[in-house]
Amino acid sequence: MSGVAPPGAEHSWQGLPAAQQPQWPDAAALRATVAELSALPPLVLATECDRLRERLALAARGEAMVLQGGDCAEAFHQISSGQVRAKVRTLRQMADVLSAGAGVPVVTVGRLAGQYSKPRSQPVEVRGGVALPSYRGDSVNGPAFTKEARRPDPGRLHRMYGVSAATLNLLRALAVEGFAPSHEVRAWNREFVASAPARRRFAPLLRRGVPVASGEVFTSHEALLLDYEGALARPGADGGLYALSGHMVWIGERTRQLDGAHVEFASRVRNPVGVKLGPGVSADEVLALADRIDPDREPGRLTFISRMGTERVRDVLPGLVDKARAEGLAPVWLCDPMHGNTFAAPSGHKTRSFDAVLDEVAGFFEVHRALGTHAGGVHLELTGDHVTECVGGLEGVGHEQLHERYETACDPRLNHAQSVELAFRTAELLAG
Ligand code: PEP
Ligand code: MN
Repeated sequence: MSGVAPPGAEHSWQGLPAAQQPQWPDAAALRATVAELSALPPLVLATECDRLRERLALAARGEAMVLQGGDCAEAFHQISSGQVRAKVRTLRQMADVLSAGAGVPVVTVGRLAGQYSKPRSQPVEVRGGVALPSYRGDSVNGPAFTKEARRPDPGRLHRMYGVSAATLNLLRALAVEGFAPSHEVRAWNREFVASAPARRRFAPLLRRGVPVASGEVFTSHEALLLDYEGALARPGADGGLYALSGHMVWIGERTRQLDGAHVEFASRVRNPVGVKLGPGVSADEVLALADRIDPDREPGRLTFISRMGTERVRDVLPGLVDKARAEGLAPVWLCDPMHGNTFAAPSGHKTRSFDAVLDEVAGFFEVHRALGTHAGGVHLELTGDHVTECVGGLEGVGHEQLHERYETACDPRLNHAQSVELAFRTAELLAG
């Protein structure tokens, strides 16, 4: 189904119901912002999006693995050079480990340089009898529980564009300067293994003679705010439309309605597109999403990101993967082991346990192994910093430590050590 755009609308999705959009208080200010953003350069090039689609096609065929990871929500005050470098370093170390385990190259996609907008279960947050709009990410409003901070401000879309451009600028400069060469990444991983007795079991993985992961880091984010995405949707050389806010965009679990604006948007842009699939999705919905977004069955075009929870993945995923295969789809299948495994710690902190995350990854690989399909990789919420937001791992972040460095703007992230450890545990599963 294609959208019927209202008179004067530029894009087909503008006439359709769009879930999870902010209530901007000043429509004229929003329109002015969108017009200004539309006149600014794109953040990425269409040819880069094409290249990522080609890389993802390898993963769909089982010739590469995908590592997609970064913050749940980037924050304007958490993108210092050190923080971005630490994230890239963590992703590079994980990619090295995963490629050692899988014996194939790893395509690295950050949740960064644009991951600023959040869907929320509740539009309003109530504290002490006071109700205010929920925090929807730094692109919309501020996290502080005040009327001022929570008021959606279209000026924040400008800031998102600016900080995304700054982050991309740093990523590109690091790449040009060769941060970090494969031998250095491997040395960091040897150091990681040597630094604690419990990690020594991982050493054999690093002795495998396998292709090292390339240094390319692509960018991705949830395409949630359609005013922003529309302003950065531009034609490529062949006239086709691209979301030039990032290399890959995905549609979240709360915005993948078949008749909604987000799916229409995803169907119109040529980028590689992801769709989150929670435990409530049916096989028919999965097929309908593929028909809408990837009618030509183009390799690398569509990625399904399964986020079932460790309790459900082994029950729900097989039926979806089996039906997709029977219908001739060959999407990239990624496992997001974060969003189905969130719970409240006794202290009240929203957290996730390393063991549950690992078990969902294990279940995901078991399902694909049993069906003879390709498990494409993982989609994770992580940071390069030493935060205490998820519990468990060999370093053993305990419930009583959560308050020490709980710095996330939204969901709890694996810290550097937990992330690299998860890569080693996943590589063990892959190496069999
Ligand atoms: C997310 O990736 O941060 C997110 C909100 O995920 P989901 O749409 O799967 O709930
Ligand atoms: Mn999240």
